[in-house]
Amino acid sequence: MACRIISGPEVSGEIYAELRERIEKLKSEGTTPGLAVILVGDDPASQVYVRNKGRKCEELGMHSETIVLPKETTEEELLARIDALNKDPSIHGFLVQLPLPKHIDEDKVIEAIDPSKDVDGFHPVNVGRMLIGKPGFLPATPAGVQQMLVRSGVETAGKHVVIVGRSNIVGKPMAALMVQRGFGADSTVTVVHSKTRDLPSITRQADILIVAIGKPRFVTADMVKEGAVVIDVGTNRIDDPTHPKGSRLVGDVDFDNVKDKVSAITPVPGGVGPMTICMLMANAVKAAEDAAKSR
Ligand code: NDP
Repeated sequence: MACRIISGPEVSGEIYAELRERIEKLKSEGTTPGLAVILVGDDPASQVYVRNKGRKCEELGMHSETIVLPKETTEEELLARIDALNKDPSIHGFLVQLPLPKHIDEDKVIEAIDPSKDVDGFHPVNVGRMLIGKPGFLPATPAGVQQMLVRSGVETAGKHVVIVGRSNIVGKPMAALMVQRGFGADSTVTVVHSKTRDLPSITRQADILIVAIGKPRFVTADMVKEGAVVIDVGTNRIDDPTHPKGSRLVGDVDFDNVKDKVSAITPVPGGVGPMTICMLMANAVKAAEDAAKSR
């Protein structure tokens, strides 16, 4: 079977082109969308994510602020920074890069963010709005997966979507999105996880299989149905002495073998990865549009 590769750079490129137009329009009306990111501590992976977000803002002509705080920052100090951003009219959306140092309560931090500026979509108000199908900020990775399906013409209505993984940032919101009424959703959804019995018998029923567990090449060809669509969210670094860096990225799906059996698949890298930052930017532009409307 000829397998289609669903490309993250291609789909995100299409969305960025639309965002550029919306940003131009906002600017011509006197609003420059502003995104701020707070980073606490010196986790190297977080530093890379935060740098990439700032760069993308610049590329798109958005205003960007990065607030780097030492790892000893107290919860009170961080909450004060959040309060200041909540009140800052030049910042339409912001996020606190996770994970946070152990002495800071993540839930308290997320709940301190004004839901109308919560571009990560992690505030319980936005999570609740998503669940009941009301407008709000959608979490970037699941929203990005949905865009990949929609923009590559994958029919979702009436299809059995099986989601492997039930984290609060990928699996659970992914299920909430796909079960909604409407275009790009209307699916029959099953969520499986580490306590699921006979997981392969369920993944084999999937018309669309979305995998987010963080286990390199966990999903093998015998676990997927012929002709299924497979979306691999997993991002795992594995040792590879043949690679110049000594390691490389692989997904949660055994891409080389699964691709010969399915109708479409996302690669790693080059699949879901680039969608996350793209959907974050889309949320920031939406936040600026909402703020401009309510002025
Ligand atoms: P978490 O570790 O928070 O959750 C993993 C989930 O997978 C849990 O629900 C867990 O089940 C389930 N799981 C683990 N092992 C198994 C197993 N053997 N069988 C069935 N289920 C299992 O991970 P995240 O959701 O945060 O991330 C998942 C992957 O996606 C990671 O590789 C991460 O790097 C990647 N990721 C990529 C992004 C991107 O490309 N932009 C963004 C976010 C994540 P249980 O709940 O029972 O423990």
